[in-house]
Amino acid sequence: MLHFPRLVIATANRGKIAEFSTLLQGIVDEVIPQGELGVMSAPETESTFVGNAILKARHASRVTGLPALADDSGLEVDALGGAPGVWSARYAGEGATDEENNAKLLAALEGVHAPRRARYRAVLALVTSPDDPRPLIAQGAWEGEIARCPAGEGGFGYDPLFLVDGGSRTAAQLAATEKNLRSHRALALSQLVDLMRGR
Ligand code: IMP
Repeated sequence: MLHFPRLVIATANRGKIAEFSTLLQGIVDEVIPQGELGVMSAPETESTFVGNAILKARHASRVTGLPALADDSGLEVDALGGAPGVWSARYAGEGATDEENNAKLLAALEGVHAPRRARYRAVLALVTSPDDPRPLIAQGAWEGEIARCPAGEGGFGYDPLFLVDGGSRTAAQLAATEKNLRSHRALALSQLVDLMRGR
């Protein structure tokens, strides 16, 4: 089984750091957010989630000299050919707010009737060194539909528009604990832990 005294997490998102720390207990002694070691975010220049996750993990490992874990995620809408995909965070432009991204998504889907199928996708990449030739890659997907108007106060990003459970609730209407058990990121992380235990 892989075991790390220290592992850098290539994200600044506190929610993700807490989630990662909990699920990696017993495999990693100390989970360190990259910001604490002075690592700036790497530009996401790849056109796939896998490409961007590997790029971010290698960058954090190169700067710190430690093993690193990165994630990349986004929303894929079938009626939009998989958009916004890797551009989810900047769908309405660089630095766009969640509200601007959600408004653009609703406008793009005007006239498209239910079911407006979509999924969140998350990819995790773990490297033991910057040039690790065999990064561990894990993936998770969470199926849903895009609502006609936002609902719910929880979560972030597209959650107020992401309908789950046959359209009865949005992800923003789930308790954080429930979302963290069912989400694309949770699925990817438990797959990663299985891969780490097997190596
Ligand atoms: P990143 O993985 O932090 O780069 O996130 C990419 C973008 O995908 C986010 O800024 C959100 O727009 C969207 N996204 C990823 N995961 C979620 C989620 O769990 N809820 C809502 N939006 C998400």
